[in-house]
Parts: sequence; C-alpha cells; structure tokens
Amino acid sequence: MPIRPPLRNLIFDWSGTLVDDLGPVLEATNSVLVAHGLAALDREGFRRAFRLPYQEFYAELLPTVPLAHLEEQFRTAFAAAATPVTVLPHAREKLDWCRKRGLRTFVLTSMDALAFEQQLDAFGWRHHFEATYAGVQDKRQVIHQILEAHQLNPELTAFVGDMTHDVETARHGGITSIAVLTGYNHPEVLAALSPDLTVANLQVLWEWLDQRMDAHRAPDPTHISS
Ligand SMILES: [Mg+2]
Repeated sequence: MPIRPPLRNLIFDWSGTLVDDLGPVLEATNSVLVAHGLAALDREGFRRAFRLPYQEFYAELLPTVPLAHLEEQFRTAFAAAATPVTVLPHAREKLDWCRKRGLRTFVLTSMDALAFEQQLDAFGWRHHFEATYAGVQDKRQVIHQILEAHQLNPELTAFVGDMTHDVETARHGGITSIAVLTGYNHPEVLAALSPDLTVANLQVLWEWLDQRMDAHRAPDPTHISS
C-alpha cells in the first residue's frame, strides 16, 4: 500500500466490523427468501452471495417483489430472530484505545437507522463516536460529504469494513481501505478487490495502527546525542 502518515481518523462500518449480527441477519434473510419460494442460504453461501447495496442483491434474486415489501419482511424477521447481536472480539477495548490516543472515530452503515440506534445504546457506545451515519443505502454517495463535514484529511483517514462495498466506498473517497475478515464477505470475495490492508480481526488492525504510530513518533532527543 502507499506510504502514508499514521491514520488519525477511522470511519467504521458496523455489521461484521464492530458487531456480529450475521446470525440474525442470516435468519431474517432466509425468512424472506423462503417466503418467496427460494432456498435458504447457509453461512458460507451467504458470505459469497450477499452484497451491498442490498437493493442489488434482492433485485437479482427477487426482481418482481417490491423492495419495500422485502424490507418490511426483513425487519419483522430480524426483530424476531433467535440469535443475538454481539460485540465482536476486541471491539470494546480498541474503541477505548482510540479515545485515549485521540483518534477520531465515526460510523457509516447501511443498517436500518432505528435498529442501529438501539444497538448503539444497548452496547453503551454512543460516546465513542464523533458522528454516526446509519441507513445509508449506497455509502459511496455520502463519503465525500462526511470527509468535508468533519474536515477529515483523506491522507489520514481510513474506512474499516467487512464488505466489498466498503472497499469501493473507501476508494471512491480517496481514503485508505481496510478490510476485516470477521463479517459478511468471504475472504476470497474481498481479496478480489485488493483492499489497501486486510486484517483477520480488530486485534491485528490495532497492532498495525500501534506500530505505525510508534514508528512515526518524534525520536527521543536523549537517544540521538552520541
Ligand atoms: Mg458490514
């Protein structure tokens, strides 16, 4: 990847990046597919097939069913899903780390805004983010607005996400694309887009961030005398 100064601003995707809601999403998606006569997907099948904007995914599978109807079915099934939404490993302590190190953090997600707000409060994470953007169908359409609204230098900013649409959004915004493998897209699907950086999980990302911040810290004058 190009040599850039250490990142100061992180825009996070939500599902599959900070929280694990693949279980209930898979349940809800299958409920919609089966209701319209299609076969249910297993976890790996979903990770190969699903993509954002989700409108395109449904337009391909169920072209004759109105999207509003599918969204309503999905919302109902998601609310009734048996599998809980959980915080992904390392997310909580790494967000604390960002705050301590003065990194600015944001959320940009396609998730339904009401469901997102509920999760944000349920996890007690509202104070972690300078601003959040939820219910965004096509993230590429708002990334420039976000950079501008918060005066984020693209050189110092990354979008961290688990899907090809997140990589495309980062590229569209001229910022660093960081792919995490904890979410909705199969590693092969993400690799096809060649993200600037791909990490197995958030722990690996923070080790990388930490090293880069340390490497760019001004040298200690007591160590350069002799
Ligand atoms: Mg995601």
